Amino acid sequence: MNYADIKRVDVANGPGVRVSLFVSGCTHHCVECFNPETWDFNFGVPFGEEQIQEILGYLRPAHIKGLSLLGGEPFEPENQQAVLELVKRVREELPEKDIWCYTGYLFEQLSVGQVGSHSRALLERLDVLVDGPFVLARKNLGLRFRGSDNQRIIEVKESLDSGAIVLWEDGQN
Ligand code: SF4
Repeated sequence: MNYADIKRVDVANGPGVRVSLFVSGCTHHCVECFNPETWDFNFGVPFGEEQIQEILGYLRPAHIKGLSLLGGEPFEPENQQAVLELVKRVREELPEKDIWCYTGYLFEQLSVGQVGSHSRALLERLDVLVDGPFVLARKNLGLRFRGSDNQRIIEVKESLDSGAIVLWEDGQN
């Protein structure tokens, strides 16, 4: 997997002060995507152990709430293994941090393993999934942490446990 950027301080993509990873590669090609250069799987540079260590270091300070995964598409089958490795390491070494992930796929596709080999394993290790493509006709600048109102901010564990979508409540941070 390649990645486009690691942001040490991000307050736009999830609650609190966060570290963000923008991976490369996305096949959704939403009209007016905020980050079209990351559609190319070869954009950016390779992601590996050095970047995992960098992210773990950025996450360690107490004022950092968690990690956000964006792109590009973290759930593209080509990206799942590398993203899963990162998420496992964060869970093992910094269990107090929360993990948000943005995807153009739907929760229902990922929870049944319809996309790639590791979607369920990755999903199970997330706290929150912001799902669905960006839909220009449903764009709303007033929305917090998402661009169009078709996108859902989902509490992953509660949704998997209950078998029904449980939405994250804005302002609970
Ligand atoms: S899923 Fe995200 S990165 Fe991919 S095209 Fe849509 S808005 Fe852009």
